[in-house]
Amino acid sequence: MKIRTRLTILFTIITATILLAFAFVVYYSAKENREKEFYTSLKKEAITKAHLILEAKVEANTLQDIYRTNRKLLDEVEVAIYDTNFQMIYHDAVELDLVKETPEMINKINEKGSLQFYLDDFQVLGMPYVYEGKTYIITAAAYDKYGFNKLNSLFHTLLIVFFISIVFMFAAGRYFSKKAFAPVLEMTNKARLISATNLDLRLDSNGQKDELSILAQTFNEMLDRLENSFEAQKNFVSNISHEIRTPLAAIIAELELAINKERSLEEYQSAIGHALNDARKLARLSNSLLDFAKASYDPSEISFKNLRIDEVLLDARQQILQSHPNHKIDLHFNTAFEKEKDISIRGNEYLLKTAFVNLIENGCKFSENNKITVSISFDDQQIKLEFKDQGIGISTGDLKAIFTPFYRGDNKSYADGNGIGLALTKKIIELHNGEIEVESVVGERTVFRVIVNN
Ligand code: ADP
Repeated sequence: MKIRTRLTILFTIITATILLAFAFVVYYSAKENREKEFYTSLKKEAITKAHLILEAKVEANTLQDIYRTNRKLLDEVEVAIYDTNFQMIYHDAVELDLVKETPEMINKINEKGSLQFYLDDFQVLGMPYVYEGKTYIITAAAYDKYGFNKLNSLFHTLLIVFFISIVFMFAAGRYFSKKAFAPVLEMTNKARLISATNLDLRLDSNGQKDELSILAQTFNEMLDRLENSFEAQKNFVSNISHEIRTPLAAIIAELELAINKERSLEEYQSAIGHALNDARKLARLSNSLLDFAKASYDPSEISFKNLRIDEVLLDARQQILQSHPNHKIDLHFNTAFEKEKDISIRGNEYLLKTAFVNLIENGCKFSENNKITVSISFDDQQIKLEFKDQGIGISTGDLKAIFTPFYRGDNKSYADGNGIGLALTKKIIELHNGEIEVESVVGERTVFRVIVNN
């Protein structure tokens, strides 16, 4: 069942219950009032007749005639007067005798001072009446036709109003729930239109602080994040294609040129040399991408062990020197370590070495002297590494972007690369719960600082 229908039904049930309680109170108090008023009018009638008989000495026959005549038209009150010894003084209609008084009843009225009860639908009132020091007991009985008719018509009116109100309340409930859920419906329809091809669509939010607006804003923020990561994904793929296409096109062109006609040995060697260079670039790119994918894994899927940072740095240095013997890589301990723990962290050896190789290689390749100094310092909690070169530096504009995959700064023509290295390095450092930051002065130096917990 739709929430809208459920709400409408709930609303109708609640208001119908309130209305029912209200109708019950109205009917009940009208019923009580009628009863009370009728006993009062019985009392008045009883006193009037007692007065007429006992004080005004009106003939009993006259009163009985009046009673008989009135009875045909009205619901006349039947009055009887007794003395306390159950001697009948007066009776409106002995032949009818509605109340059928008994000595016990007369005694009870005398003792209690008053008695009210029902005989079927007839209301009966018994009361003592004192005249000239003598106590008489009067009974008065009648059917409150007028009162019961009024009560009946009130009952029917309440019943009809109740059912009509339920219909109205259901209709009102439906209308209001429709109105209340209109923005949700609108959101649903709009959200249906959002797909991978139009991730820029957003839900309308009236900028207010109501629940639906907050939902729309939160949904839009989620779409922002999705769109960004989708864009990044698209860029990533097109950047990869671009990075692969360039060296591949170069390899094809070089080999086609070489095979076109017969060439000298030197020319063949040069063509193969160029092709090899480009093939190496491709291999480097594919390795970097593979590492990037690895560093993007869930940390729980990557094996971590205790590592000595200085040993990983030495391995990285070794690896670089094998392919670039002319690079100069200095390692410095700023703090003398006493225990192994001081320079140990839990990490993935392969990934950390890859990160350090990237930083060291960049330092060397972007400086004329191909030299980098790596300093290690530590305290109880952290190990700080500084990769400092005196190279060409990075412009302020580039500093913010160099950690973006495939981004190469405006100094890129100075050295070969694919723009993956720093993005991969940042990912690896973050995987180790560390931080990386950069500071640079163009034409003077670049310093990368890495902080990891030991
Ligand atoms: P690549 O070195 O393959 O171009 P990186 O991701 O390693 O890619 O670096 C991104 C960019 O950051 C480089 O293209 C370069 O512009 C800049 N950069 C990184 N390290 C240095 C450095 N030590 N000195 C100067 N520029 C640097």
